[in-house]
Amino acid sequence: MTDENIETLLAQPHGGAEGSVTPPIYQSSLFTFDDFAAFEARMSGRGNRTLYSRVQNPTTASFEALMAKLENGAAAVGFASGMAAISSTLFALLKPGDRLACVRHVYPDAYRLMERLLRPWGVTITYHDPAELENDADLLKGAAVAYLESPNSMMMQVMDLRKVAAHASAHGAISVVDNSWATPVFQKPLDLGIDIVLHSASKYICGHSDTVAGVVVSSDELIDRIRDLTLPLLGGKLAPFEAWLLVRGLRTLPARMREHQRTADLFVDRLSALPQVAAVHSPGPNAVPGLTGRAGLMSVEFTRDVDVRRFADALGMFHFGVSWGGFESLIVPAAITLAQAGPENSLRAFGVPDTLVRISLGLEDAEELWRDFESALAQATG
Ligand SMILES: *Cc1c(COP(=O)(O)O)cnc(C)c1O
Repeated sequence: MTDENIETLLAQPHGGAEGSVTPPIYQSSLFTFDDFAAFEARMSGRGNRTLYSRVQNPTTASFEALMAKLENGAAAVGFASGMAAISSTLFALLKPGDRLACVRHVYPDAYRLMERLLRPWGVTITYHDPAELENDADLLKGAAVAYLESPNSMMMQVMDLRKVAAHASAHGAISVVDNSWATPVFQKPLDLGIDIVLHSASKYICGHSDTVAGVVVSSDELIDRIRDLTLPLLGGKLAPFEAWLLVRGLRTLPARMREHQRTADLFVDRLSALPQVAAVHSPGPNAVPGLTGRAGLMSVEFTRDVDVRRFADALGMFHFGVSWGGFESLIVPAAITLAQAGPENSLRAFGVPDTLVRISLGLEDAEELWRDFESALAQATG
């Protein structure tokens, strides 16, 4: 599917009765049956008529159908959060004794899930650099699952997903990619041979910072495993109103990603020329095969000449906040996340420099954002 097709697809009416161009919100926990025979047929597994919103809801299904099309998958399932999507996927695929091979600098709460739940349950977890996953064909030998992010969190390192998918399939490991950063507008992991793609839909898919949600897209067989086991039993299903907001958000996804890219390109150009900037981590088009754009989330490493605290406090248009992918620009200094309370801190475990800040560029005017950034930096250098 080309990008033009995505735009056209998302501009199609996607509604219900009477010519409605948006889906109705089925705000109902259950769906009733007219007689014994119909109810019995459904309960015995014949037919797929909507039964109960923990496992199935027509509004949620509209969002799922759209996501399956966008990612070129056969089926999708929506979740109440990105973490529900990740945990429901991993618990459906793994059992005690298995090995999970995970990319380094994985999303911090995914790391905690692995260390605090999967490891005590009996899963062995190994962490690997993207380059190692790409170049060492035997690394995935004996692994049940390869859990990937490209780019990964904070350091924004990318990998050639086609290569890693081929290594995984050669060894019978199921490959899973978190595609929240690129979205299907900039990268389609299933087209590159990856088995499962998932999202925190709270980020670009939603785009309006008003919903927490997740989604998993794959083959019928793998989605059925999740639908049979962890969707009903862990119970993290996407609710109908949130699904409706996500369909609404998706309408403008290509336009928003284009705008994020324009601002991000401007920042990368100008940041790279500044003496106070030691490194810019912002993968762009063709950084690896299959990546066609640059999203608005990046990280910047400053030299020791910059007082990161003064810089961050001097910003006027960037707000301190977790999450990203919305209309508003945000900043997360790594120094704050490094000091975050609690065990299993992935930034400390993997080693992220305290001179690094992550920025999410929103939809504000790019020149105004840059002026704010540059002036804060000037105030904090010396
Ligand atoms: C935010 C995020 C998640 C978790 O998603 P939630 O919707 O907050 O549960 C997973 N992966 C990445 C890369 C994220 O940024």
